[in-house]
Amino acid sequence: MKGAFRTRGLVLHCTDFSETSQIVRVFTRDHGIVDVLAKGSRRPARASSSFPAPFDLGGWYDLNFRIRSTQLHLATESRLVEGFDHLRGNIAVWLEAVFALDLLRTLFSPGDPHPELLKESLQYLMLLGHGLGRRRLRNHFLQSLLGASGVLPNWNRCNECEAAIEGSAEVIIPAGLVCAGCSGSPSLHRVDATTRNYLACDWTREWGLVPSWEVPPEAVQAGWDLLRSLLLHHLERPPRSLRYLRV
Ligand SMILES: [Zn+2]
Repeated sequence: MKGAFRTRGLVLHCTDFSETSQIVRVFTRDHGIVDVLAKGSRRPARASSSFPAPFDLGGWYDLNFRIRSTQLHLATESRLVEGFDHLRGNIAVWLEAVFALDLLRTLFSPGDPHPELLKESLQYLMLLGHGLGRRRLRNHFLQSLLGASGVLPNWNRCNECEAAIEGSAEVIIPAGLVCAGCSGSPSLHRVDATTRNYLACDWTREWGLVPSWEVPPEAVQAGWDLLRSLLLHHLERPPRSLRYLRV
């Protein structure tokens, strides 16, 4: 990659640098994760400025940047397209968004584009702000994230004998789901039939149908416990934002 680029991206992290600048990690549509130095982005805005305002966590921006020889590229211009302001008025919702951004930042690195996951992340942030189905939306997002990371089990099929699973099953981390016939002693992660069905349906469900979906709260909770275990196994260390979630 060489030269100057124009793209759109979601801000996953901002660090102040000097009195006037920021270092920003952006999940871009065309190049995956990119780190940029935005010189002067913290200065008071002028209408003509390259950066009308400082970059904000969770903002969706038009971004121009120039490739440099290091991993830290140079942002040359930005414009906010969507600030997701509706997320910032409710603390429980905002902490969910911060957790999601944190996971994207931690799990993916520059040079590894995931355009579908970016689309899903934007859908998630959009729906999260409506205040309905926060826990179901979080589970749905985690499934997308674990799927993109290649560590999501197939909820319908035994990983050992490949038979379709009808009832409950055991989740062997990291191998996958195994049927009652193939599992030896019960593992720590038994998944009952209701929860397994919920996760299997959720995996293919459209984002827009998630918030109003009627799922037994116990299944949503059990789904979260399971997805969190898969996530924690996959991550080197749990992100601090996990502790702040209202689960
Ligand atoms: Zn089996």
